[in-house]
Amino acid sequence: MTETYDHGGGVRSVRVPIPDNPLGHTLVYVVDTDRGPVLVDTGWDDPASWDTLAEGLRACGTSPGEVHGVVITHHHPDHHGLSGRVREASGAWIAMHEADLSIVRRTRATRPERWFTYMADKLAAAGAPEEHVSPLRTARRRTLPGLSPALPDREIVPGELLDLPGRRLRAIWTPGHTPGHVCLHLEEDHPGRLPGRGRLFSGDHLLPGITPHIGLYEDPDDTTVTDPLGDYLDSLERIGRLAPAEILPAHQHAFTDAPARVRELLDHHEDRLTGLLALLAEPLTPWQLAERMEWNRPWADIPYGSRNIAIAEAESHLRRLVKLGRAEAVTGSEPVAYVAV
Ligand SMILES: [Zn+2]
Ligand SMILES: [Zn+2]
Repeated sequence: MTETYDHGGGVRSVRVPIPDNPLGHTLVYVVDTDRGPVLVDTGWDDPASWDTLAEGLRACGTSPGEVHGVVITHHHPDHHGLSGRVREASGAWIAMHEADLSIVRRTRATRPERWFTYMADKLAAAGAPEEHVSPLRTARRRTLPGLSPALPDREIVPGELLDLPGRRLRAIWTPGHTPGHVCLHLEEDHPGRLPGRGRLFSGDHLLPGITPHIGLYEDPDDTTVTDPLGDYLDSLERIGRLAPAEILPAHQHAFTDAPARVRELLDHHEDRLTGLLALLAEPLTPWQLAERMEWNRPWADIPYGSRNIAIAEAESHLRRLVKLGRAEAVTGSEPVAYVAV
């Protein structure tokens, strides 16, 4: 059973399932152009997900073989997973921002063992106890999803129009969730004449009911001290100012009033930073901080993989506080602890 939805003005969406994931599905958008449909994201690489996408395209009056191009909001496997299959079926181009493209290149070139070692070292440095770190040290050749993603053949250049004959789709760089995340602004008037400026494909940057994960940008070969949360908050403000008439996100459902949603998310992170500062009255490692932060369930009930995500989230907030001069590393602490200043 396929669920497609007609958003009007030559834009439809297909709900492509993500197996065993509480997110449920990715909304793959199908944008009509003079040269055939262009997809915004493709969905998770799984046989059932592929069948749903193919069936959905047929329900839209087209097929995988007719796809002209694929625009990827960011490299995550629930967005970029099926891009390779679409290109095999159609010869479509695949476009991605350079910063995420380089992650794809590196992922393809890196053996899984390297990632496990890198993750284990990072967790140890964040103060994770040995029983949390050791499973990663003993992991051998386990396969992870998205370890050989398709290599895009076009670069998305921020501010430029994409190659969609007969349409006006402009890329807006919105780093934070990933370093190369983009939103895509369909500049044409809203088909239902809603007030505002066009429609925005927002990927994972702006979602109606979920706060996207903001961790540290993972890169074993790069020691640059980045500030993903700072990037994200800046990107949010820019999307708020753009004031599109409607947001077409990659999960959940379409919505309006982007500035209000942006405000909610800015407030959420401000509250989070204030809460963290209170906890940092005493020196804490990122792990200790994550244990004390508020999550959607008690720390003891958070499963292994989600704890790693929680620590990355704690670290990105710590990074922001350090950058703002509101917290600092305690000299000589090992693993490094942070304290409010
Ligand atoms: Zn994502
Ligand atoms: Zn996603």
